[in-house]
Amino acid sequence: MKKSLGLVAHDDKKQLLADWCADHKDKLVQFNLFATGTTGQKIAEETGLEVQRLASGPLGGDAQLGAMIAEKRLDGLIFFIDGLAAMPHDVDVKALIRLATIYDVPFACNRSTAEAVLGSF
Ligand code: PGA
Repeated sequence: MKKSLGLVAHDDKKQLLADWCADHKDKLVQFNLFATGTTGQKIAEETGLEVQRLASGPLGGDAQLGAMIAEKRLDGLIFFIDGLAAMPHDVDVKALIRLATIYDVPFACNRSTAEAVLGSF
């Protein structure tokens, strides 16, 4: 069965994630990909990968990914966080990180750990 991977990038990191997805397209095509709205749109446009888009992060997309983790419907999470900007939805960001932690979901918040997480599948 195909594994499911969540993809999220804060605004300043969206290009980095789109480029990372392009670099790993051959492997990512083997996953069911879920992304927050704007991130998903950019990845789909730039890579041609099929991405199921959730709500935009500030409007509940991070919370939707957190719910997927709680329902054991997400096998991994790539979440490129902007550590230098305040987020209106910081509470949702923290909840997503917390759920990934307690459900022991492989979780990467920068490019080098993303390589490790993808390599672990
Ligand atoms: P976005 O959400 O992909 O809709 O921009 C990401 C986030 O800010 O959590």
